[in-house]
Amino acid sequence: MKTYNLALIPGDGIGVDVTDAAMKVLGAAAKGRFAVETTSFPWSCEYYLEHGRMMPEDGIETLRGFDAIYLGAVGWPATVPDSVSLHGLLLPIRKAFNQYANIRPHRLLAGVEGPLKAEGFDILCIRENTEGEYSGAGGRVHEGKDNEVAVETSVFTRAGVERILRFGFEQARSRRGHLTSVTKSNAQKYSMVFWDEVTRELAAEYPDVTVSHMHIDAMAAKMVMAPQDLDVVVASNLFGDILTDLGAAIQGGLGFAASANINPDRSAPSMFEPVHGSAPDIAGKNIANPIAAIWSVAQMLDHLGEAEASAAVLSAIEAATAKGIGIRPGLNTTDEITAAVIAALEA
Ligand code: NAD
Repeated sequence: MKTYNLALIPGDGIGVDVTDAAMKVLGAAAKGRFAVETTSFPWSCEYYLEHGRMMPEDGIETLRGFDAIYLGAVGWPATVPDSVSLHGLLLPIRKAFNQYANIRPHRLLAGVEGPLKAEGFDILCIRENTEGEYSGAGGRVHEGKDNEVAVETSVFTRAGVERILRFGFEQARSRRGHLTSVTKSNAQKYSMVFWDEVTRELAAEYPDVTVSHMHIDAMAAKMVMAPQDLDVVVASNLFGDILTDLGAAIQGGLGFAASANINPDRSAPSMFEPVHGSAPDIAGKNIANPIAAIWSVAQMLDHLGEAEASAAVLSAIEAATAKGIGIRPGLNTTDEITAAVIAALEA
């Protein structure tokens, strides 16, 4: 039987609650199919307060040998600035392991009533995950003085833009054959015009995929007014980040939004995590919705080549929601939702 070595970073707040739930479901999904050996790392804001860094200096090298990384959520703004926690753990992992494709599915699960009239939609949002607006290029001059200046530069490389769009075209080809590229090329006349140009170049290689170009503002409206018309959506780091919270909202809330940080050439481990953060307001109360975290397990299994187990986890989530479990905030506890998914898996 195959054994997968999984690095676990539960992180902060509900990251811990939902990782626990996700691992219980993974254990149930693995039965009779494969084995999983997990190694848990305490890297979090608490770790930062003790050690002065979010992970040890050799953290990246430690993670490199694993088959996959599973992360709950990081951030505890009451004690550690978000810019420190994000730039000290999550972003370095995504960049170091070239996890350039952040895949976020937005679909209305059986039984879940989203806030929209739309009865069904199935959007695959692909967010560029290593550069763009989050490249970390910039600085501050004259700090604390009246003439203080802050500069943050977006970085769009041809290699980076081309590979994320190509990934999007391939996904569109394997789905309903439509790709929407999201930019703001009317206002941002260098980076986003460049992005549009690369999209058009690649489109010529994918005549079977129809392409739409949309500006981020119009796209935000479309995701509310007509989400059923969207298939694969490709966006830059910042735009994808924002649009996928909107995607989460229309699918019923952040508790339903899963995410995979994929290194498509498999030269380093990929990382799987729910879209939501550490939700300090509900941490440790056993009320966080674990469905996003469990769905991320399904994405991980698919990436590892365990397609049957991945499909079984997704079906089990939907079997639970179809029965009305976990479909609204506050309706069920984290434990109840997890138990319902496991019961469906084992049925
Ligand atoms: P958040 O996603 O943690 O919470 C936003 C709101 O959604 C809160 O009201 C929360 O209770 C609710 N919510 C989130 N997940 C839920 C779930 N599974 N079930 C039920 N309700 C849920 O976003 P935030 O409040 O902006 O950020 C809190 C912290 O998390 C910050 O430190 C932030 O930097 C961090 N963060 C981390 C990640 C990550 O690790 N990938 C992502 C986003 C935010």
